[in-house]
Amino acid sequence: MADILVTGGAGFIGSNFVRYWRGRHHNSGVVVLDALTYAGNPASIAGVEGAELVEGDICDTDLVRQIIRSRDIQTIVHFAAESHVDRSITGPDAFVQTNVIGTHSLLRAAKAEWLDAGSGTPHRFHHVSTDEVYGSLGPEDPAFAETTAYAPNSPYSASKAGSDHLVRAYHHTFGLDAVTTNCSNNYGPYQFPEKLIPLFLINALEGRSLPIYGDGMNVRDWLYVTDHCRGIELALERGRPGEVYNIGGGVPISMNAALALLEELTGRAAERRYRPARLGDQRHTLADIGKARAHFGYAPQVAPRDGLAAQVEWQRAQLGL
Ligand code: NAD
Repeated sequence: MADILVTGGAGFIGSNFVRYWRGRHHNSGVVVLDALTYAGNPASIAGVEGAELVEGDICDTDLVRQIIRSRDIQTIVHFAAESHVDRSITGPDAFVQTNVIGTHSLLRAAKAEWLDAGSGTPHRFHHVSTDEVYGSLGPEDPAFAETTAYAPNSPYSASKAGSDHLVRAYHHTFGLDAVTTNCSNNYGPYQFPEKLIPLFLINALEGRSLPIYGDGMNVRDWLYVTDHCRGIELALERGRPGEVYNIGGGVPISMNAALALLEELTGRAAERRYRPARLGDQRHTLADIGKARAHFGYAPQVAPRDGLAAQVEWQRAQLGL
């Protein structure tokens, strides 16, 4: 199998995907293109055989074209993004630059090499996105479907929504073979500790209080990162060109319930520090994963309790506890 290009492969989900992919596709090398922002860590993929890191920006279209050409890339899995909602509130420019302009740069490079060059090579552009593009559910609303109208609330989700539309347009206008997956909140190894689960875990294990937005009753569908990686792999292998698929765990949990579970698993009761609700926050998110199940048999395999228990052990080892 040909080599694949993974953008943002030194970040949280990207690095897990690189490990997952190389563990299952020994003949497919991985070129990681990553700008190594604060969120990118080469150590997360250090020692992964068959994975090569190229430090560079997805906005550099010529660089992307040169990688596609020189490595005969036929598959791009696009993770690179600014991903932290809090940062998008204090500094949205970088989100528009990387998530919108950067995604468009990749699409331009893919079109130039795969379509305009006229080689007729089979190809796939896999765009990794978020279920936050759908906005927030009311108490009686059904889970988000792939047909739910986009209603992003934060600059982060708005920039991801913009990138999703560009991917769709490149499929419909130019015939690019592209698939988008919109996934729920992930947790697992190698996540930057500004994100909720590692932040809570580190604070709890080190005896610090837990900062909680609002009343802690906002609900998320937490997914262990390897389940996301499997969903992407299935979509690459069996997802239909031009389609969009929701990926998730199907188990909505409130912030307070997740905290209680973490306290139980760590054996540490931590003080909770409630602060005003985050600007533009979503109260409740849950995506319907029926289409991914029907088209390619996706189903999450890691229950929240098991995934969080694994995460506690990983975090303990990282902290040398
Ligand atoms: P992350 O912030 O941990 O990693 C992002 C990576 O992209 C980093 O390695 C960073 O260095 C790299 N990067 C940033 N700007 C770049 C640029 N201009 N050029 C090249 N590389 C650049 O993010 P993550 O949590 O791993 O998320 C990965 C993808 O999955 C994102 O597209 C995100 O929107 C999506 N997603 C994340 C979640 C989640 O819960 N974390 C859920 C659903 C979807």
